[in-house]
Amino acid sequence: MSPILLHDTMTRSKRVFEPADPRRVTLYVCGPTVYNRAHVGNFRAAVVFDLLARLLRHRFGEDNVIYARNVTDVDDKIIEAARNEGVEPAVITRRFEELYLADAAALGVRPPDIAPRATDNLAEMIAMIGKLIEAGHAYAADGHVLFHVPSDPDYGVLGRRDRDAMIAGARVEVATYKKDPADFVLWKPSQPGVIGWESPWGRGRPGWHIECSAMIERHLGQTIDIHGGGIDLIFPHHENEIAQSRCAHDGAPLARYWLHNGFLSMAGAEKMSKSLGNVVTVAELLGQGHKGETLRLALLSAHYRQPLEWSGQLIAQSKAMLDRLYRIAADVPAGTPDEGVLAALADDLNTPLALSRLSAIDDPATLRASAALLGLLGSSTAAWFRGEGDVRVDELIAQRAAAKQRRDFAEADRIRADLAEQGIILEDSPAGTSWRRA
Ligand SMILES: [Zn+2]
Repeated sequence: MSPILLHDTMTRSKRVFEPADPRRVTLYVCGPTVYNRAHVGNFRAAVVFDLLARLLRHRFGEDNVIYARNVTDVDDKIIEAARNEGVEPAVITRRFEELYLADAAALGVRPPDIAPRATDNLAEMIAMIGKLIEAGHAYAADGHVLFHVPSDPDYGVLGRRDRDAMIAGARVEVATYKKDPADFVLWKPSQPGVIGWESPWGRGRPGWHIECSAMIERHLGQTIDIHGGGIDLIFPHHENEIAQSRCAHDGAPLARYWLHNGFLSMAGAEKMSKSLGNVVTVAELLGQGHKGETLRLALLSAHYRQPLEWSGQLIAQSKAMLDRLYRIAADVPAGTPDEGVLAALADDLNTPLALSRLSAIDDPATLRASAALLGLLGSSTAAWFRGEGDVRVDELIAQRAAAKQRRDFAEADRIRADLAEQGIILEDSPAGTSWRRA
């Protein structure tokens, strides 16, 4: 059995993965801020770390992995969305958390073992902030509590940026209550009418970064095995998580391995983002008739650390590959996974190699088992082809019947010929038209 190798952002190298306790492997991934419909790029992390969780469960045992992905349900964008709609923030967060989970499920993402919400972990955040103040790493000023960056000589260890670049990169607001421009918010005041909680520093709400540190401590422990997220989270979010947790835990590191996935871009466009308007949601893609499994394969087609260019062609290629695999797999029980697929995944989740190995398998039982490692071929072959193909065939048959009715026999013949080309044979009878595959 080949060892699992993971690229660790902290060391900039692939390292053999050895959990602190193989009976309790801990994985934490920063989850969604639930205030709008997430775009397909947001789900790359969900799919990549779902794949990692599957690999870890395969290696260490189904019940020996604890995967936590948080839900950020208090945030200025949520407050703004709620104000725009004239509803409580919880109305917004519940709606978009449900939609996020529905989209993730469509992509074959298994629910994590723990999905803590920020608003359920306020006591832990307040306690951690108190500890940081006590230890001289944070200070209260003007209703805010700030982490004092110069108090932590190791700050910036993950991204290895210099201090000026970090200050510029964070676009930190220069506020009079800050001792240092790099200091970041742990707690901020809430005006009356804005969601808030009582704290030793007045009524307010937590900053984003402290959420993850406090939830990891509560649900997984001081030091976890793997922390994951998108590459855009390295700075400032993960630097800040690291600083908070290490300083609150007498120097114990937050995570033993740091994994980051690359961006998704639209073909011919910049990084997918709301502000650039080049956004497509999973719901829109499903609405266009694409299956979640096709989108999952497309999201796994590039190595997770590389950028992934999203295009209609990528979706079409992914669907064609699944059509082919489903035909080979037929409906047989899964056998034993292919060693080559496993080895590719164990080598820092090398999905391009794993998928090419998968394509070379001709034994249906082996193919089913190997595809399952990637969360693919989860349906029966009949269900896969019934789903989209049959709906389309039925639609075309209805169009042909309508054409005949209006005596447009040329169009009716054209539809029949088109279907015949796809191996669909139509059989007319007094009861109507039925079809079969050639
Ligand atoms: Zn986080």
